[in-house]
Amino acid sequence: MNINENYKNLEESYLFSTVAKKVNEFVQKNPDKKVIRLGIGDVTRPLCKAVIEALHKAVDEMGVQATFRGYGPEQGYDFLRKAVSEYYMKRNVTLELDEIFISDGAKSDIGNILDIFSKDNTVLVPDPVYPVYVDTNVMAGRKVMFADANGGNSFLPLPDESVKADIIYICSPNNPTGAVYNKEQLKKWVDYALKNEAVILFDAAYECFVSDDSLPRSIYEIEGAKNCAIEFCSLSKTAGFTGTRCGYTIVPKALGKLNKFWLRRQTTKFNGVPYIIQRGAEAVFSEKGQLEIKENINYYKENAKIISETLDKCGIWHVGGKHSPYIWLKCPNNMSSWEFFDFLLEKIQVVGTPGAGFGKNGEGYFRLTSFGSKENTIEAMERFEKIFS
Ligand code: PLP
Repeated sequence: MNINENYKNLEESYLFSTVAKKVNEFVQKNPDKKVIRLGIGDVTRPLCKAVIEALHKAVDEMGVQATFRGYGPEQGYDFLRKAVSEYYMKRNVTLELDEIFISDGAKSDIGNILDIFSKDNTVLVPDPVYPVYVDTNVMAGRKVMFADANGGNSFLPLPDESVKADIIYICSPNNPTGAVYNKEQLKKWVDYALKNEAVILFDAAYECFVSDDSLPRSIYEIEGAKNCAIEFCSLSKTAGFTGTRCGYTIVPKALGKLNKFWLRRQTTKFNGVPYIIQRGAEAVFSEKGQLEIKENINYYKENAKIISETLDKCGIWHVGGKHSPYIWLKCPNNMSSWEFFDFLLEKIQVVGTPGAGFGKNGEGYFRLTSFGSKENTIEAMERFEKIFS
């Protein structure tokens, strides 16, 4: 028996455990101080009414002989795939139902999709980055190259013709930076991929935060993208499904074998998302659901605005926040990410995430999120203003 030695090449992730350890130590030493956590990447608002009603109804159906459901189609029920296709139609993107694959969230599909690619492919990942892109490729023994995202390119790297990549990861709006590509910039990536016969794995997990209609929410809004891109999306941040688990992956038929192979992979290794959850997900796309989730998204966006405006007042450079729940700031006074983390915890008891945890280009930067409560966000920003303005 030989094990997959590639797992030895994975870097240990100490980011969130170190954050938790440092916060716990501080709280033990200072039990009277109120710590405000603006580091969380999880949502806090509950599921909307339309979803809850649909979930209850589906639960009841499961208890009745005539409406009970067992195994469903691995790629998702038609009612949900239809709802997803209608959602894309609103942006003039036409999808056939067999290009839509319902998943239990974006993270698993982003990892699983690698099953259908050769081990020899070279991989291009932005730095800083959502760590899943790197780790899933390291597990498979693939070589990973990095596209530098930094202050110079506003954390939106563009293709470098001298770099030859087969698999390209793009996340827009981006985690951790909150930066979002415009159509011209994304077109450059699509053109590069078409020219190099590469595939783009486009992570649209935060598409619902895009506020400006001229900015793309889906890569298929870019001409030619159906010939070179797979898109992953999720209801986690859109509708608070982080614990409920549902997403969707688009593999266009124009990608030839990839669509067929993904279907084969899913029907072999996956048995679908529970019927009850898919009914809840369907309700997200209903008129009522869309109105209700917008309230939650706007709640987070309002928090992001409060953070962004405070940073402006304090003269702290940042990106994100407008079309994203994440705000990515440059640590003041040339502090390192962890120095700034300690400084904020000690001085004003605000917790964020050190940028260094997302890649080498994250050093000197810091991520704040808008997923907290409005009251806490306001209080945290008042504390910021006191020490930085
Ligand atoms: N993609 C990005 C960029 C994320 O930040 C996250 C979650 O934080 C995911 C995907 C995973 O989403 P899901 O909950 O659908 O697995």
